[in-house]
Amino acid sequence: MKLIKNAQVFSPSSIGQKDVFIAANKIIAIEDDLSHMGNELTEVIDASGQILTPGFVDSLVHITGGGGEGGYATRTPEMQVEEAFIGGVTTVIGALGTDAETRSLENLLAKTYGLEEQGLSAFCYTGSYHYPMVSITQSIKRDIMLIEKFIGVGEVAISDHRSSQMSVAEMARVASEARVAGMLSGKKGIVSVHVGDETAKLLKLTSVVEQSDIPISQFYPTHINRNKALLKAGFDYAKQGGYLDFTTSTTEQIIEQGETPAAKALAMALAEDIDVSQLTMSSDGNASLPIFDEQGQLIDLQIGRVSSLHQSMVEAVLLHQVPLELALSSITKSPANILSLKYKGQIKVGHDADINLLDKTTLSINQVFAKGQDVTVNK
Ligand code: ZN
Repeated sequence: MKLIKNAQVFSPSSIGQKDVFIAANKIIAIEDDLSHMGNELTEVIDASGQILTPGFVDSLVHITGGGGEGGYATRTPEMQVEEAFIGGVTTVIGALGTDAETRSLENLLAKTYGLEEQGLSAFCYTGSYHYPMVSITQSIKRDIMLIEKFIGVGEVAISDHRSSQMSVAEMARVASEARVAGMLSGKKGIVSVHVGDETAKLLKLTSVVEQSDIPISQFYPTHINRNKALLKAGFDYAKQGGYLDFTTSTTEQIIEQGETPAAKALAMALAEDIDVSQLTMSSDGNASLPIFDEQGQLIDLQIGRVSSLHQSMVEAVLLHQVPLELALSSITKSPANILSLKYKGQIKVGHDADINLLDKTTLSINQVFAKGQDVTVNK
């Protein structure tokens, strides 16, 4: 049992100074004063002057590594659990990416279970960039229905030279399989969509929505901040009810080539009156960040970092004047709701005790609890 006292609680909405009581892995009570709760076995943590937030939900991490666009030596490494905890991330969604030949869903699933054993909450997507979809049971529908950790399919790639150039009909079929599997298993069955640099932008998704009964909310497109034209198309897409995810891992060179930092993209989207429930940020952690020249030749490759999620949230607040509640929402409540992760993303009685304590001024991370356990990484 733990009693966190006198914290400024952002649930992510600001609910004022509260005590939060944790037993095992759950939040049991949130009140002005809970001094009467617990006993000599209760650990009391004085969080005076600190901000208490939900643990962050990172909706896209290449937990088994990714990339390889520059040859075998450029395959990126697996994510270590400390890389999540150091950035206040207590829930991750793992995905394959470009390479589903030397990397497998079996490996992704094993890594997901491994991270869960290490105290993180971890889920994953079946499928990859490629069509026909890879799966463990020869069907993405069966994967989502029969394997608990698979909550959807992705990253399915569109508008990218590395994609399988799916047709609108093929995308509609994938979305419908994910949707039905989700309905039958009580999951969202979301389709995580990697959107590349090509001029078609989000057209494949809007075409599916126009030509079928698949709702726009079945898709969860990411990397929307990668260039200005896509960002603008993204705002139009969101105004039709779609979700938008901005990628926080980046490099100076990528920004020079036209990417908008995720924090700024979030501020711009909010200024366009797009509701924060449709807006999220994810790290794309452990992905490769390849830079191609105009001829399509790879000229540089870096590795995405999960900790960039927290950094971008701080940047949104301190640099772009996004209210803390909204910046927090984009990495807690919004992704948890979009993915139907029931007990995640909010400070609420009955929810999992995934909690961060932040410095009130700098918003740096002081302490991290995942499922009630103190998992703070000493810096
Ligand atoms: Zn991607």
